[in-house]
Amino acid sequence: MSYKVYLADPFIDEEEINLVSATLKSGWISQGPKTLEFEKKVANICGTDYAVAMCNGTATLHSALLAVGVNSQNNVICPSLSYISTSNAILYCGAKPNFVDIDPNSFNICPDCTEAAIDKNTKAIILVDLKGQPANYDRFAEISNKYNIPLVADSAQSFAASYNNSKIGSQALLHSFSMFANKNITSGEGGVITTNDYEIYQKLKYIRNQGQQGERYVHQELGYNYRYNDVLASIALSQLRRINMILAKKQKIANSYDIAFKQIQSLKIPFIDPKVTQHSWYHYTLSFTSKRLRDRVRTTLENGGIETRVAFPPIHLQPMFNHSFKNLTLPNTLIAFETMLDIPCHAKMTENDINLIIKLIKSSII
Ligand SMILES: *Cc1c(COP(=O)(O)O)cnc(C)c1O
Repeated sequence: MSYKVYLADPFIDEEEINLVSATLKSGWISQGPKTLEFEKKVANICGTDYAVAMCNGTATLHSALLAVGVNSQNNVICPSLSYISTSNAILYCGAKPNFVDIDPNSFNICPDCTEAAIDKNTKAIILVDLKGQPANYDRFAEISNKYNIPLVADSAQSFAASYNNSKIGSQALLHSFSMFANKNITSGEGGVITTNDYEIYQKLKYIRNQGQQGERYVHQELGYNYRYNDVLASIALSQLRRINMILAKKQKIANSYDIAFKQIQSLKIPFIDPKVTQHSWYHYTLSFTSKRLRDRVRTTLENGGIETRVAFPPIHLQPMFNHSFKNLTLPNTLIAFETMLDIPCHAKMTENDINLIIKLIKSSII
C-alpha cells in the first residue's frame, strides 16, 4: 500500500550518497576506518568512553547480554510490550525471559514489578526506552545497586534522547541502539552499543569478530560475525550530522500534536516523565479510552492515506511461546496494546501533513 504520509521516512540526501560513493571508491568496504569514525562520533554524542558498531540492533542486544555473562542458567527481566528482539536476544543466550508489566503512564517497564520479579537466577534487567522515551533510569539504578544486577538498555528507539539533561547512552551499563530504516538515525540496518566499561568494550569486540581476541584466526571463545561495514557506516555518519535537525523537526511536530489534542477527553497525549529532558520522538503515540475508538480513528487515518501503527503484540502472548506464559497477567501491557496508536512524526513531514492528520483525528472523535 502506498500512503500520502508514512509513519517513518528516512531522511537521506546527497550527503549520504556522496559519502557512500567515496567509501566505495576507497576500496575499503568491510568494517574499517569509517566504522571506527562512526563509533568515535557516537561515543562523543552519547558522552561515553566507548561505542561498538554491529550489523543490527538485535545483534547488539544479544552481544550486550553475553558481555554481562547471561547464560542458560539465568533469567533476564524485560517488558513484554516491546519488539521481539528484546526477548529473542535473551533466548539466543539460552536464558529465560522474565516478563514484567509496564507503568500505565509512560508505557515503560515498571520498577516495582521488576523488583518483585527478581529471583536468585536473575542475571540482568533489560530496560526498553519505548517510543523513544527513556525508561526510569534513576529508580532502576537503585534497584541495580541493591540487588547487584546489571542494567542493559534496549535504546533502539531513543537515540539522542536525554535524561536529566544527559544524552541517553551512559545511564545503564550498556545501551544498545539500532540503525534500522525507521529509527531516528539509519543506515538501513545496523546497531551500536555504548558503554563506559573497558572490559565490556573489549568483550564486545571479541564477540563481534568470531571470538578472536589477539592473534588472527586464533579463537579463544565462541563468537559471531556481527561486524558492521564501512558502506553503511558512511550513511550512518551523515545521519549523525543531521540528528539535531531531525530531532528539532520531530519535537516541533510533537508540540503541534500536543496542542491540538490535549483538550480532548477521550484520548491521552504522550505522558513525559519530568526527568526526560528530551524525548527522541521515534513515535508519537496517542492512547484512547477504548479500543473501539482507537480502531475508528485508525481507520479514518488509513482511509485518508496516513500510515499508523498499533503497539507491538505483547511478547509473552506470541505464538512462538506456545501458551507457556498463559498464566502470566500483565494488565497494563494488555490495555496499552489495545488502546495505543502511533501517528506519523518524522522530519520529512510538511505543515499540510500535520494539519491533515489533526483534522482527520478530530473528525473521527467528535
Ligand atoms: C528496532 C528495535 C530493535 C532492534 O532491531 P534491529 O532491526 O535488529 O536493528 C530492538 N528493540 C527495539 C525495541 C526496537 O524497536
